[in-house]
Amino acid sequence: MPAPDRLSRRRFLQSTLLGAALAPLALGLARRARAAAAALLSPSAPEAKAVQYTEDAKSAKGAQGNSCASCALYQGASGTAQGPCQLFPGKDVKAAGWCSSWAPQM
Ligand code: SF4
Repeated sequence: MPAPDRLSRRRFLQSTLLGAALAPLALGLARRARAAAAALLSPSAPEAKAVQYTEDAKSAKGAQGNSCASCALYQGASGTAQGPCQLFPGKDVKAAGWCSSWAPQM
């Protein structure tokens, strides 16, 4: 029978290895759940209208070649069509979109 401290070390290592093995799976599930839960911001929503949000930056006079994808407040992954914006918690915006709160990335 192993000594108590040896047993607890074994349990600690088992827990650590199990946690490390499951972390990527949990992260993937969390990302998938977030993606499924986030609704796309409607340009006709009052909060979107307040900042002249459009889903197509090319149609916005003030965009000057900028879009949500190049905005400091955009949190979508590179190359994706839409993602979260810090200005609209719980909503996704189009990467090709734009609003008057656009800010340059630092
Ligand atoms: Fe797009 Fe930036 Fe406006 Fe958010 S703050 S809607 S990312 S331009």
